[in-house]
Amino acid sequence: VIETEILTLDRMAIEEAGPNPDKLAAAIHAQLGVKTGAVPIHTIAGALDIVHVREERLPGMEGALVMTPDRNRGAIFANARSSRQRRRFTIAHELGHFLNPWHEPPNPVAFACTAEDLRTTWRDLSRDANRHWQQESEANRFAIELLAPASRVIRYLKGIPDLERVIALAANLDISKEAAARRYVGLCERPTAIVFGHKGNVGYFERHPDFPFVSCRKGDPLPSCETTPDPGVLTGHMQSEPRDWLARLPQRELLTQRLFQANGYSMTLLMLDGDDEDEETSNS
Ligand SMILES: [Zn+2]
Repeated sequence: VIETEILTLDRMAIEEAGPNPDKLAAAIHAQLGVKTGAVPIHTIAGALDIVHVREERLPGMEGALVMTPDRNRGAIFANARSSRQRRRFTIAHELGHFLNPWHEPPNPVAFACTAEDLRTTWRDLSRDANRHWQQESEANRFAIELLAPASRVIRYLKGIPDLERVIALAANLDISKEAAARRYVGLCERPTAIVFGHKGNVGYFERHPDFPFVSCRKGDPLPSCETTPDPGVLTGHMQSEPRDWLARLPQRELLTQRLFQANGYSMTLLMLDGDDEDEETSNS
């Protein structure tokens, strides 16, 4: 994807939004004008004093930001070994550090961010989280608000939750399926959870606050995963055993749907059956 458009953004006006990552991202979108499709992150970074974005091999790191001491200019580095979608998220994350004057780099002129930093939840952390994790969380929050603003996600949220829509969302916004899945769970009106697996084991999960607590833990065998079909296979919604997944038995049937991905990765959508008739009634 080559971004050729010339873009002018008023960085001072954007930074007036303050340290809140949601407001910072919204201030950029207010100036962008375009309302659909993939957000041109390279062009945006260039218009906000990032003099270059380079893809490099970064041992032990996913991304880095180097700045002049006065923070007037910066350069961003993204891990060349990661997918384009992941690099786009990394660039947005580093831009989030750059635009937030409250973010203190660990060394006077550079941030160096690991894969773990980029996985930090983008929900609010507790107030006692240390400064490093607070900053990483805010940079992630900024990145997802910039690359997948609610206004571009909303049309994927209607109806019965379905990983088909997560796949379409990822393709439309040019973000990873993992980022799309986490955004989907966060914004979907109907509470769901998504469990991310690798090679038959649980990695981590993202859960809507109103969805029952998910009991499986990192490293547990992934429930109902005896066979691993080819990457790209998406199952239907299957009735599943709640005891395998949830801390307490729900009032309604548990449905799961699984997407098998490359290299042994998978994601499993969890939802409760039974709201569909209500939705149809309220829509008519
Ligand atoms: Zn970071």
